[in-house]
Amino acid sequence: MKSRTKVVVIGGGIAGCSTLYHLTREGWSDVVLVERNELTSGTTWHSAAQVTNFGMNQTMVGLKTHSINLYKELAEDPEYPINYHHGDGGIRLANTEEQLQGYRHFSSMARGVDVDFEVIDAAECARRHPLISTENLIGGLWDPMDGDIDPAQLCQALARRARHAGAEVYRNTPVTALTQHGDDTWTVHTEHGDIDCDIVVNACGYRVNEVASMMGVHHPVASMEHQYFLTEEIPAIRDAGHRMPLLRCPISDYYCRQEKNGLLVGFYEQDCRTWGMDGIDPDFVNALCPDDLDRVTDVLEGAFSRMPALMETGIHTVINGPITYTIDGAPLVGPIPGKRNAFCIIGLRAGLGEGGGHGWLLAQQIVHGEACYDTWCIDPRRFTGHANVELTALKAIEDYQNEFRFHFPHEHRPAGRSAKTTPLTPVLAARGAEFTVVNGWERVDYIKPSDDFHPRLSFHFDEAFDVVGDEIKNLQENVGLCEVNGFNRFEITGSDAPSFLDRMFCGTVTKRAGRVGLGYLLNHHGMVKGEATVANIPASDRGTDRIWYGSAAASEFHDMDWLTSHLGPEEDVQIKSLTNDQTILVLAGPKARAVLSSCSRADWSREAFPWLSVRECFIGFAPATVMGVSFSGELAYEIHVPNASLYAAYLALEEAGRDHGMKLFGARAVESMRMEKGFLHWKADILTEFDPFETGLDRFVNLNKSDFVGKAASQSRRADGPTRKFVTLDIDCTHAPARGGASLMHDGRVVGTITSGDWGYRVGRNLAYAFVEPDLAVIGGEFTIDLLGDLIAATVIEPGPYDPGFEKIRS
Ligand SMILES: Cc1cc2nc3c(=O)[nH]c(=O)nc-3n(C[C@H](O)[C@H](O)[C@H](O)COP(=O)(O)OP(=O)(O)OC[C@H]3O[C@@H](n4cnc5c(N)ncnc54)[C@H](O)[C@@H]3O)c2cc1C
Repeated sequence: MKSRTKVVVIGGGIAGCSTLYHLTREGWSDVVLVERNELTSGTTWHSAAQVTNFGMNQTMVGLKTHSINLYKELAEDPEYPINYHHGDGGIRLANTEEQLQGYRHFSSMARGVDVDFEVIDAAECARRHPLISTENLIGGLWDPMDGDIDPAQLCQALARRARHAGAEVYRNTPVTALTQHGDDTWTVHTEHGDIDCDIVVNACGYRVNEVASMMGVHHPVASMEHQYFLTEEIPAIRDAGHRMPLLRCPISDYYCRQEKNGLLVGFYEQDCRTWGMDGIDPDFVNALCPDDLDRVTDVLEGAFSRMPALMETGIHTVINGPITYTIDGAPLVGPIPGKRNAFCIIGLRAGLGEGGGHGWLLAQQIVHGEACYDTWCIDPRRFTGHANVELTALKAIEDYQNEFRFHFPHEHRPAGRSAKTTPLTPVLAARGAEFTVVNGWERVDYIKPSDDFHPRLSFHFDEAFDVVGDEIKNLQENVGLCEVNGFNRFEITGSDAPSFLDRMFCGTVTKRAGRVGLGYLLNHHGMVKGEATVANIPASDRGTDRIWYGSAAASEFHDMDWLTSHLGPEEDVQIKSLTNDQTILVLAGPKARAVLSSCSRADWSREAFPWLSVRECFIGFAPATVMGVSFSGELAYEIHVPNASLYAAYLALEEAGRDHGMKLFGARAVESMRMEKGFLHWKADILTEFDPFETGLDRFVNLNKSDFVGKAASQSRRADGPTRKFVTLDIDCTHAPARGGASLMHDGRVVGTITSGDWGYRVGRNLAYAFVEPDLAVIGGEFTIDLLGDLIAATVIEPGPYDPGFEKIRS
């Protein structure tokens, strides 16, 4: 066994084998994998091993395409061929029009990464899968690449290729401890000796937290028991002359694929069970949980009536094994929050299908610092402090119970609600607030007109359309108040804080005391990594000179890791998170100044407190820090208040607003208004796949600065020119917004992808943002958008059509 290597991957299931192989593909051959037992002896050996191309965003579809192409290549390797039923095709069934709408959107999205799904009607479903009945069925989504693979052969093939490239695999070598050293390198302690290395990767499946605890962290991953059975031979399959397509059924919660001349049928029962919550028997190796088919009778009935042939065949094997889930159902693939040189590839619930792609994206992150796709949807840092064991289990159960039911726009399911609240949450609920969830925070979406107001789940504009319109109208004419909780906020102090931030931002961000600026952070490839406001708060009785760094609600762990990883050992900089201590009340509208003036004793005139100012003050008697910034495009103030004083500040504002027609507004109104202003959202429109010039952020880059992170790459990217350009579009329809991921066509070719879309109430237009081919990114440029299966005209317009001169904000 080596005593020193570059990377140690812990765990020899599909996650570990794929990571090891892809590290060698990215050029690192001095890498090893350690496995406590034999390869695939965790979950992988008994997987149903379906390999679908379906996903709900382009990153997921793209990584699954990578798996499929890789598995095909492995299957066709004459030296070590493996069994892969590739391209049997698969159907996701639907019995509601809304499900079909979703499938149409996902088809539009997948076309942008060269994947062709097809939405078919019930008769066509039955034609392609002759064993199913069309009762209570209206259609489905056809995935032509669907298939299944032999999991053990797949892992052996990956390990074999990795070994040929120089990697080493140590079986029967349990990792017993991990030590991190002062220079951020590691020692991996195993039963057979120690291995020093630069980087460790946790790929330990359901034992993820045994290894996580060795490095002092806990991952929000929980295991569920999951069962399938294998049937005897079914004559109709034997005699069909072709393989049966796969089925996934959100109506009755099961899946089904051909196995020899019978079927493999797997269940997602409502009466489901978590597994291993209180520790896992060390001898649970190549093992299964006890069968319990009684538990799945509800689901079985649905499967039997959809496929009557199932009733006439015997069951010869039942498999019940642990499968891992995270809080939002997507895995955790990337850097471990709060740790250096530590990565994970865990929480895989469809690891056979996805594992090839996840290992590929992880290896790119390890070797190059970033992957070819923006990987936020699988980034381990996307959940922050609330992601504990109990919440994870609740969400895992809910997700398991809804396995094939995708989330609709604005859908937030009931499990684990109120994970993060402020003292105002119950107050706003009593005022009729409907809440959305942002990184666990309950944030007001809009104020319901009545208690029984429940818009239907839909990809179209829903019944809240006019409610949101009224909130915006009042804000535009009078004034509105909105709680924005969970906004990320770091307090940065120390004599080197200004120079440190200057190095982190690609542009010139104001250092003047009492002023606020906006800046962008790039990675070493010159792509946009983050966005933050910087407020320079002068010394006062509340503290010394300090900078408040504000960024998106979910970015706390991401931004903290990014900033601290760039701090030099000699730099005098302290970064403290205030994210959970302070909440923002946004006061916006032409009468905002009058409201503020009547509850806060200070000169709030335009001259004394112009746009982009920051000042400490009191709202009533509640201490607050007010910034003159606006996401709505109206005159607006962000009022930052410690949570202990939040209710008091709210009451003072409510009282002051009474004479000015002040009403509450929510996140949906904000979303619409920010699009009218041309403002971007981190991880919707701001992605690591694009540089600031492509994203239309040229004015925030200063290539004349002496240095900043990503400068060299920025210079060469600028010289090379853009591959895509960010545009604002006017969509020629009124029934549905363009959703992120939808494809844009020109001359019959896909030439771009939507990132955000919403109705602009103040400009009366259906607005969208997109990245498109640069030659087409001209004002007046015309496209066709595939919007839920309809082809609709879209025209490039000037960005920020509402008050382009910024007169209202500055008023
Ligand atoms: C019944 C069932 C059906 C499924 N069907 C499908 C399907 O159709 N399609 C699909 O894509 N997915 C399916 N899955 C999910 C899929 O099987 C898993 O996502 C995948 O196998 C997880 O792989 P992994 O490498 O993350 O974990 P594992 O396979 O569990 O591998 C983790 C490895 O880490 C090792 N390890 C743990 N601790 C240590 C330590 N201290 N030191 C060294 N090594 C250690 C373990 O021994 C193990 O080999 C199914 C799962 C189940 C249970």
